[in-house]
Amino acid sequence: MEFGWDERQSKHRVRVRDVLARELPPDWDDIAVHGPGSDAQTEFSKGFCRKLAEERLLISHWPKAWGGDDVTVWDQFIQGEELWAAGEPRGPQYMNVNWIGPVLLKYGNAAQKAEYLPQIAAGSVIWCQGFSEPSAGSDLASLRTKAEKVEGGYLVNGAKIWTSYARLATHCFLLARTASTGKAAIVILLLDMKSPGVQVKQIPALIGEGDIHEVFFTDVFVPEQNRLGEEGQAWEIITYALQNERIGIPRYAFSRRILDRAAEKLKEDGRFENPIIRDRLGRAVALCEAARMMVYRVVDQRAKQAPPDAYGNLARWAIIKADHAVSDFMTEYMPEGLLGEDQMQIAHHQRAIAAGIASGAAEIQLNLAARRYLDLPGEPRPAEPRPEGRR
Ligand SMILES: Cc1cc2nc3c(=O)[nH]c(=O)nc-3n(C[C@H](O)[C@H](O)[C@H](O)COP(=O)(O)OP(=O)(O)OC[C@H]3O[C@@H](n4cnc5c(N)ncnc54)[C@H](O)[C@@H]3O)c2cc1C
Repeated sequence: MEFGWDERQSKHRVRVRDVLARELPPDWDDIAVHGPGSDAQTEFSKGFCRKLAEERLLISHWPKAWGGDDVTVWDQFIQGEELWAAGEPRGPQYMNVNWIGPVLLKYGNAAQKAEYLPQIAAGSVIWCQGFSEPSAGSDLASLRTKAEKVEGGYLVNGAKIWTSYARLATHCFLLARTASTGKAAIVILLLDMKSPGVQVKQIPALIGEGDIHEVFFTDVFVPEQNRLGEEGQAWEIITYALQNERIGIPRYAFSRRILDRAAEKLKEDGRFENPIIRDRLGRAVALCEAARMMVYRVVDQRAKQAPPDAYGNLARWAIIKADHAVSDFMTEYMPEGLLGEDQMQIAHHQRAIAAGIASGAAEIQLNLAARRYLDLPGEPRPAEPRPEGRR
């Protein structure tokens, strides 16, 4: 197979690069190092997303009827690669456009679409995803947060954990259950984070300022019209969201950029000729490119509207391996960057720490691939990996 971009796709990439060159300020690295959940990056991202919207690049993969341009999944991906390689200046809003919006487009009713989609398209809101709980991570279906049916809606009680961007979020894509067991009892509630009874507590972490949180719900009333889909349909919707998400984050593009910069610096310092360094660097580059090719295979399937297969899980695994290899290389051979010389290296390192846990643990990807490819017997099927709603 020979893989190449056609002229239109190449032009699209150049256009995105031009916008980035124009819109990223000289101190962007210093902003990015604070992390997408930080005040600094959120402020910047709001303005940046509005600019992307003006350039018709924020939601270009959405249908024309909702303000998009119906661009292909490949175009969407080219854009994602460029934005991630630049350190993802959309901040938390990548989640809005990559999977919240598409899920609302498919499953939202007319009122929900009219309310939420224009806000996302304008870059003026931040959604968080309320999936994980203290005893429901990989096994998502065991979540316990209660949504008791009451007159006109649901009364929510419970707690979520590791919720990215909750402190800044205006809305939450919340999973709760109407009965104590069973996937059919799970409901998806589109929650206004300002609702009385919602309490957000930040969890101090190494992975960026203000990134992860606990969220507590005490008698939070959610009107029935804020339920996404029918009762009993939530698992189908979650599965669809995961498919959208799986090709959403080209993290290898960021890893590759970090390596390219490292190679330049090593050349300047006269260390590039060291055979051990070249070998290690080459291995890390190979892992990034392997991840890229595996992800392209998933994108190709998607473009052909083929059903998702285990390749998505293997591609996620490859991305995690690449992230870790780059982070290890940089720590070993360019530790000065982590000590404060290179803000982007620090930002990459922070994201790599969470790779393999966030968005569904690495081992779960292997479990799913083993079951799907090798038909291995297993324990009761664990939940699908989580959408990559953060780094
Ligand atoms: C930076 C960060 C941001 C996050 N943001 C969000 C967010 O915005 N919203 C949200 O809902 N969640 C979020 N999460 C939570 C994330 O989705 C979970 O951490 C992840 O799904 C793993 O769940 P857990 O932490 O409960 O670990 P567990 O599921 O308890 O897993 C612990 C370990 O056991 C292994 N394990 C578990 N089950 C199996 C099995 N069947 N076979 C083999 N190994 C297994 C796992 O691979 C893992 O290594 C975030 C996490 C991080 C680190």
